[in-house]
Amino acid sequence: MQNLLALTLADETPAARQGEGPTFHWKWSWRGLLELIPFETSERSLVLSAGIHGNETAPVEIVDLLLKALFTGDISLRCRVLVVLGNPPALAQNKRYLESDINRMFGGRGAQFPQGDETARALQLENSVREFFATAGPDRWHLDLHTAIRASYHVRFGVMPQRNQPWDESFLGWLGDAGLEALVFHQSPGGTFTHFTCENFGALACTLELGKALPFGQNDLSRFTPTHLALRALLSGNKPEHYSGTVERYRVVQQITRRSEAFQLHMAAHTLNFTPFRHGVVLAQDGDERYEVQKTTEYVLFPNPSVAFGLRAGLMLEKLT
Ligand SMILES: [Zn+2]
Repeated sequence: MQNLLALTLADETPAARQGEGPTFHWKWSWRGLLELIPFETSERSLVLSAGIHGNETAPVEIVDLLLKALFTGDISLRCRVLVVLGNPPALAQNKRYLESDINRMFGGRGAQFPQGDETARALQLENSVREFFATAGPDRWHLDLHTAIRASYHVRFGVMPQRNQPWDESFLGWLGDAGLEALVFHQSPGGTFTHFTCENFGALACTLELGKALPFGQNDLSRFTPTHLALRALLSGNKPEHYSGTVERYRVVQQITRRSEAFQLHMAAHTLNFTPFRHGVVLAQDGDERYEVQKTTEYVLFPNPSVAFGLRAGLMLEKLT
């Protein structure tokens, strides 16, 4: 069962659907979904997901290495884990998605998209996570691993879903030790996987953006070392090594939405994530609607003029002091 990735890509069902590893019971429940329950009782439950976007392969390779280390006994498991490879058909084709972006569909938002394999998969992921957290204690984490489409002033960063309760500083500290250089705090709900687990199950959840997307086999995994090591420590119930550097914090102040064919994003195609724009600059236009920088300085995140109508073409951020 250490070959979850290979099975998932080939769409094969394992000969046995459950069994034992060196320090845990495992259960394969569906394509790309593997639950590991340690023999030792454990307080923490972790959803570890990757490949929600099928072309973001480096984190999938890291999860594959972690599973191999667990099954050989190199890592002793000390927390409950649900491993999720999010969009297997898209992973097999190295595409972000085949029809629609799964990471906009959570919390029932799949109903707004053409119905197909990806809307069905979003529901299946929701159900698997609900079942996993149903028997979990209060210590719940969800780390959703991604790589960004474009280059960025912060090489690795985390996007935090809107949360009504304060964030646990030890969770934010762990994210810093995992090599994240910045954390972005959403102020409103969204259709992401992490928003779903945070809102419905109280999970401390973060979407980790770990560098640039490349096809399987072309990733330089050494660039992911701090994250890889922090995940190894997390699985084995240890504190990660402290990773140097301050973690900048940002909050979302406006969303740019593409609503029509007339939409124009006034940014160069190669604009880096976290590029600053000064007060008054016109960022985008969509017919009569104009998006301008409201604060003294705002920083752009995920600019993308070619999204489907009604979806996010970019986020504008304010730095927190
Ligand atoms: Zn992604």
